[in-house]
Amino acid sequence: MRMLNGLPVSRGFVSGPVFLFRSTGSEQIPEYRIEPQDVSRENARLTDAFTLTKTQINSLANELKKRISGDEASIFDGHLMMLDDASFVGSCADKIKKELFNAEMAVNAVAEHYFSIFAAMDDVYLKERAKDVSDISKRIIQNLLGRGEVAISRLDRPSIIVADELSPSETITLPRNMILGFATDRGSATSHASLLARALGIPAVAGLGTISEVVKTGDLLLLDGTRGKVVLNPDGEEFAAFDKMVERSESIRVTLEQDRLTKGATSDGHMVPFLANIDHSTPMTDLYAVGAEGVGLYRTEYLWMAYEREPTEEEQTHAYTAAVRAMPEGFPVTIRVLDLGGDKITGNAAAHKEANPFLGNRSIRYLLRNRDVFRRQLRAILRASAHGSVQIMYPMIAAVEELQAANIELLSCMSDLKQEGIPFDENMRRGVMIEIPAAAIIADTLANEADFFSIGTNDLIQYSLAVDRLNETVARLYQPTHPGVLHLINIAIQAAHHHGQKVAVCGETAADPFLAVLLIGMGVDELSMSPNLIPLVKKVVRQVKLDDTKLLADEVRHMAGLSAEKIYTHCRNFVLKFMPDLMYMQ
Ligand code: PEP
Ligand code: MG
Repeated sequence: MRMLNGLPVSRGFVSGPVFLFRSTGSEQIPEYRIEPQDVSRENARLTDAFTLTKTQINSLANELKKRISGDEASIFDGHLMMLDDASFVGSCADKIKKELFNAEMAVNAVAEHYFSIFAAMDDVYLKERAKDVSDISKRIIQNLLGRGEVAISRLDRPSIIVADELSPSETITLPRNMILGFATDRGSATSHASLLARALGIPAVAGLGTISEVVKTGDLLLLDGTRGKVVLNPDGEEFAAFDKMVERSESIRVTLEQDRLTKGATSDGHMVPFLANIDHSTPMTDLYAVGAEGVGLYRTEYLWMAYEREPTEEEQTHAYTAAVRAMPEGFPVTIRVLDLGGDKITGNAAAHKEANPFLGNRSIRYLLRNRDVFRRQLRAILRASAHGSVQIMYPMIAAVEELQAANIELLSCMSDLKQEGIPFDENMRRGVMIEIPAAAIIADTLANEADFFSIGTNDLIQYSLAVDRLNETVARLYQPTHPGVLHLINIAIQAAHHHGQKVAVCGETAADPFLAVLLIGMGVDELSMSPNLIPLVKKVVRQVKLDDTKLLADEVRHMAGLSAEKIYTHCRNFVLKFMPDLMYMQ
């Protein structure tokens, strides 16, 4: 089969020769028993291999930090922790001493043991650590065998890397100037290698099934990371069509660059502010570069994850204030209180050990049970509000009494600060995230206690369709255009407007240009998304009139009896009429 479909994990088009990357660990590992007198020699080999591995990982980590900022830059922290883990190192030495394993066999046995423990964990974060264990053990074994980066040294011209799966350390070890793209049998949009590909701007398609079995080094490949397709050894016609697509996507990119500082609006001047989703590590200068008109979602839990503990009130105040100060006057910064839980956990995972973490003591529920933690954060947000236009936002609200309790705590912190003579914005606006289906249904009641809504479609879809947002096997059931989801969004919009309030969308649906147009037609007032996606979506919105968006929303309302897929296709075709070139970007 020459055309393969997979998962689009990093946008962009590229063509070039294949370099078939065989993961180093797939080669045979020599396993044998040693003589008792050879134990110390084997232990010395082990120590040398650990030391060399640590040096390599440190230099990879530094290299990565030079290339990208943000959370992806700390991917190797887990590897380094593993190399320093006394019980991991000790268990390997024990296997050599007590069971007379050769060093390679000792590392392999201990790694398999650790791998099976991590892989069996329910917790998504700890499950991911299984991949770190296998990545690091492969590297130690390669170093024991003195093989170094043999496979990579054969990469002598810019190529598309094809592999069964790539680990983060393999991804970053590959020389950037030699990589045109990635195409892998396995992996998903959320795997570490995909995150890295996106952060490095390298087009990638994952989940292609058996591509590494059907190609050989030197084959020609067309890779479409935007739609998740590859074509093997294309004919002249396929090549010409692809070239045209690359050319068009480039020209769109240039116009995006020119338009980036215009305000978000439809072509007839209906303003739709484009806000950014950020965390503490987002370089604020990037927001200016993409033309963000404020921050629609500051995910504070990443601070907890970075510190691996609760940041102090001072540390939080400092982080929030830095974001507020970096924004031009009048640009809002919407700070969401701690949304810890589910897939977002701290290093102190034990504190979150629950059978169903996505349905557990997370987010606002956790804060309402840990009032001291909540109060420290509220105080920090209030203190930051003295420096600009801060809005507070409560996540995972399911019931009006949660919102009331949160507001009471906020008022109490305000009165404390007043007594202490610490300045803050007494009129700070309070928002509610609509991301639990019940919250959408009772939105009318919630609006009495808040100033605005922000619809978190990532969770709203997950909770209303009972589809895990991280599980690649049910990824096709995760449907933003499911009529049930659209109905919930509609209820929330109507409720907000009935109370004269604004409603934003800060889930990924806002960043899909076809759906952004639909959301505006449904009445959404603001869109918030990853900064790098703002220019494209803004451009698309500028091609349509407000009435066009309303027409689309009307048509979709009449499609409630149809499948999510049909509705999505309708939105896509509708928007493509206004901007045919978008086909080359999506
Ligand atoms: C959402 O749920 O849509 C959202 C924006 O929040 P998060 O992705 O942080 O859960
Ligand atoms: Mg959410």
